[in-house]
Amino acid sequence: MVSEFEAVIGLEVHAQLMTKTKIFCACSTQFNAPANENVCPVCAGHPGTLPVLNGRAVDDALKAALATNCRINSRSVFARKNYYYPDLPKGYQISQYDLPIAEHGYLDIEVGGTPQKPELAHIKRIGITRIHMEEDAGKSVHMQGYSLVNLNRAGTPLIEIVSQPDIRSAEEAGAYLRKLRAVLMYIDVCDGNMQEGSFRCDANVSVRPKGTEKFGTRAEIKNVNSFRFVEKAIEYEINRQVQVIQSGGKVVQETRLYDSAKNVTVSMRSKEEAQDYRYFPEPDLMPLVVSEQKIEAAKRALPELPEQKKERYTKQLGIPAYDASVIVSSKKLAEFFETAEKACGEPKAVSNWVMGEMLRLLKLDDREIDDLNMQPEALGTLIKMIKSGAVSNSIAKTVFEEMYKTGKDPESIVKEKGLAQISDTGAIDKAIDEVIAANASQVAEYKAGKDKLMGFFVGMVMKKMGGKANPGVVNDLLKKKLS
Ligand code: ADP
Ligand code: MG
Ligand code: ZN
Repeated sequence: MVSEFEAVIGLEVHAQLMTKTKIFCACSTQFNAPANENVCPVCAGHPGTLPVLNGRAVDDALKAALATNCRINSRSVFARKNYYYPDLPKGYQISQYDLPIAEHGYLDIEVGGTPQKPELAHIKRIGITRIHMEEDAGKSVHMQGYSLVNLNRAGTPLIEIVSQPDIRSAEEAGAYLRKLRAVLMYIDVCDGNMQEGSFRCDANVSVRPKGTEKFGTRAEIKNVNSFRFVEKAIEYEINRQVQVIQSGGKVVQETRLYDSAKNVTVSMRSKEEAQDYRYFPEPDLMPLVVSEQKIEAAKRALPELPEQKKERYTKQLGIPAYDASVIVSSKKLAEFFETAEKACGEPKAVSNWVMGEMLRLLKLDDREIDDLNMQPEALGTLIKMIKSGAVSNSIAKTVFEEMYKTGKDPESIVKEKGLAQISDTGAIDKAIDEVIAANASQVAEYKAGKDKLMGFFVGMVMKKMGGKANPGVVNDLLKKKLS
């Protein structure tokens, strides 16, 4: 049974830095440009050229290291990782090996909580072994019977973030990756675009009998490009390895690929065929020396991170912990929340709209916050309109849906659709009289002491007025007329 086993998972994440130029030359990092447009003798690997380290890439790597609680090495060393591939013109990749820029970090992830049972959420710390800087390779484009090479991506700066084997389930792996991606996006070093490969992950998975210490043999699943697929690939791989062991076999150390269409992992190459990279220090680059002042400056430049935001939302703004976790999980969502909150000064109302209607509609459309038409200021305005009585709560939902669909502001929606709340006693009076006339027996019961019927009358009047009557005014007038 699977439950007699425990999974051990370590993740290697490659994140592309958002520098304008490549890591060792002045070429643009726009790799969607026409093929081989952004290429020079350095990134094309011509003999006799020399790499020059991009200072901005170092700054970004430092920010990432600090935001993941790493210790920064005052001296780190670039190394050549030798292998041959058509899209690697130098015949080696410049990376870092035994002396990376940063080590010994961690990220705290939140797992276990659900919208229904937020109290089950707990924090788990995942160790980060190291962060190193390296260059990306180019891209081979396979045609029918021949292949083309595009070097636009060659030399794009990457950081690789290697986790400790502290992860125990697909859920934890997903939480770690989401958190890491969010943090890198908060500090503006990576755009997080998984489709384009700006944030990609290799998952190392092994299993061991529960209660034992020794790690099992691991398989490495390469380059999975969505959170859901990483989770599914890990899930599949755990089950596969347990089955191998239970049927008397042995897990072999190998690289596997995830096939999302079939939801299986398949062997790509075994460790026997694995490369010996013959790392050695890059002779064309000096060791990277980072001063204390530079580290301090990077620390000061760090923005508020998700955990600090969550603390502020719960302690200062009174937002429930679960809601705060969801909102800070994305920089865009947090920015939306904060702008709307500033526009109306009602943090709890904003959080309720965001957590309720907004996320519901986005989920329904399978869309991300990035695709949102609606302006945060517009939500602030809507909340003020509810407070002032300009729209009723139920009508506000309709207005919100329209804002979500069209991106229009609430005032023009209310005007165009005639949705303004009616507080005019004349119109409400008339509706009440009609309701009383049509429900004589209920009126008699109410007068005989059945107070609960008040809700029924309010409902009937509201219905008559298309939900637009001011409920306060309806209540007051009804009470007067029925007493
Ligand atoms: P390599 O560079 O060959 O991929 P590393 O030792 O650097 O190997 O490890 C890479 C990743 O694999 C790390 O995230 C590490 O935590 C993880 N890892 C190492 N051993 C295991 C294991 N037995 N089971 C699961 N993950 C592992
Ligand atoms: Mg690896
Ligand atoms: Zn170049």
